[in-house]
Amino acid sequence: QPVVGVLALQGDVREHLVALAECDVLARPVRRPEELAEVDGLVLPGGESTTMSRLLDTFELLEPLRARLKDGLPAYGSCAGMILLADRAIDARADQHQLCALDVVVRRNAFGRQVDSFEAVLDLAGVEDGPVHAVFIRAPWVESVGDNVEVLARVPESPIAGEAAGRIVAVRQGPVLATAFHPELTGDARVHRLFVETVRAA
Ligand code: GLN
Repeated sequence: QPVVGVLALQGDVREHLVALAECDVLARPVRRPEELAEVDGLVLPGGESTTMSRLLDTFELLEPLRARLKDGLPAYGSCAGMILLADRAIDARADQHQLCALDVVVRRNAFGRQVDSFEAVLDLAGVEDGPVHAVFIRAPWVESVGDNVEVLARVPESPIAGEAAGRIVAVRQGPVLATAFHPELTGDARVHRLFVETVRAA
């Protein structure tokens, strides 16, 4: 069984461990470089990207994590995790670290300019058996993507979507997957399964 870690510095750690446990992997929290070295894939949960960035320094995980990502470690980032994986984040603090594992520009707190949280029903490429119920909490969206990035989902047009309509909210680049929303909160492990398929293939 592959070992899939959840970066456990802050945020929705437990919920991701629960979702991964449904996917026939060994799910483990990761706080130390030795733990990072043992995983075959890593989930970066939602929470607060500024805090997580700071804790990556404190726990001496920043450089080891950058190195593993550079070596092709499969990773999945949700919300704040997506912000950290991105090459660049608009409206992030100037000293926030970027892991630069995804050739995208994200806009932090993008939905928050209108509302704090937002829900949508999305078609997600690679996920079968119907649309995904997506919960966005002070979420970023993806402002632009590079040539090697696959767009997996956008916010559908709807009367409540406003400025969010059409925005990119799920992407993949090689073994790195990211969603602006929180699949760990809806009891639907299909996004985690999609990630685990990548881990198994790697
Ligand atoms: N607004 C948070 C940030 O900028 C992300 C919110 C979340 O992960 N739910 O990091």
